[in-house]
Amino acid sequence: MSADALLPLLKSTFGFDAFRGKQADVVDRVMTGENTLAVMPTGAGKSLTYQLPAVALTGCVVVVSPLIALMHDQLRGARAAGIRAASLTSVDADFAETRQAYRDGALDLLYIAPERATSEGFRTLMEARTPALFAIDEAHCVSEWGHDFRPDYRLLRPLLDAFPAVPRLALTATADKHTREDILLQLGIPAEGLVLAGFDRPNIRYRVTPRVSPAKQLTDFIAANPGPGIVYCPTRSGTERLAEQLAKATGRPVAAYHAGLDAEVRSRVQHDFVASEDGIVTATVAFGMGIDKPDVRFVAHAGLPKSIESYYQETGRAGRDGDPAEALMLWGADDFAKARMRLSELPEVRVAGERVRLNALAALVETVECRRALLLRHFGETPPERCGNCDNCLEPAAQVDATVLAQKLLSA
Ligand code: ADP
Ligand code: MG
Repeated sequence: MSADALLPLLKSTFGFDAFRGKQADVVDRVMTGENTLAVMPTGAGKSLTYQLPAVALTGCVVVVSPLIALMHDQLRGARAAGIRAASLTSVDADFAETRQAYRDGALDLLYIAPERATSEGFRTLMEARTPALFAIDEAHCVSEWGHDFRPDYRLLRPLLDAFPAVPRLALTATADKHTREDILLQLGIPAEGLVLAGFDRPNIRYRVTPRVSPAKQLTDFIAANPGPGIVYCPTRSGTERLAEQLAKATGRPVAAYHAGLDAEVRSRVQHDFVASEDGIVTATVAFGMGIDKPDVRFVAHAGLPKSIESYYQETGRAGRDGDPAEALMLWGADDFAKARMRLSELPEVRVAGERVRLNALAALVETVECRRALLLRHFGETPPERCGNCDNCLEPAAQVDATVLAQKLLSA
């Protein structure tokens, strides 16, 4: 059955009129039982590529997912769509019921953490009833090249190999070539099984500018962006300081978020933000994963992000609804100085890799050419020379100072 034939089901189950991007290609492969690695940016809609087959196929789709919080978000979403979904994690008390439901064929979708998926008990459960598909979410966790290696992911292979007739679908937003090839190898997916979606987010306007007086720069930026937004700060204390300053200066609701706050506070901040039409969160990178808010209108960085990948992922939280959105990065000489200092404290084996990351960031802040083109080339794409929707395309002259400054920094 082809993806097109599933359009009525896509509408009736999820309320969507059409597939987005490469979703149809992935669903086609899944429905014909081929092994696939789907590399699609965050927010592209990877979950749908196994949730729709979960409804369409006879048998249960088993999803390996590394974070319980994300899993439970997904579970709620799937159930709301009428999918018979459950999870087996350390916080689920209804283990026996879930297992029985699986054996009875009463589940469409079963989420499981990797450490449990590799257990004997789970293998036995799979033998009791063959699943329709193994979906491995956040599949970059299987690779040491990836930014979040999880040893448990390596142990999935024997389980997959024990069921050669069950197709595998690996999903990730990591586009880096090394990681991609490693995932294919580790999970036994043929090279032709790679479905690579475009990384461009044309509705996001990128601006990168030297930090002169951050509170004022951010206040002006926010004044021009009445919708909800996130301001990423390098430190926890920075999030709190900035929240206060911006609340005063803009008169808008601003809340700080970082891992040092009580779980209750964090969950309230997150909840309020998702519901808000003008709220702002000043946050460390702890904020954002698993937050499904399509109408975030801006993402600002008060300091240098960790890497191009982090920058892409963090700015990518803006404008998921496809409407215009803005990304502003403020960077300073001290950001680079600090990052260089951290380099010297790293274990030898990591220095080279981190230096490459830092240089890539330097290239992004320094370039007088199209920012988007630089980003997309970083992810292995061949973009047009100019996008017409970044600061360098829109106001070429304004960037000269920044370039001179950046060159000084890098040669220092
Ligand atoms: P990813 O895992 O790739 O980051 P998700 O699966 O979490 O992305 O989906 C992101 C958002 O896109 C969700 O709100 C989802 O409902 C929405 N979405 C997915 N597919 C479609 C589609 N075909 N049309 C419209 N919205 C979609
Ligand atoms: Mg996802």
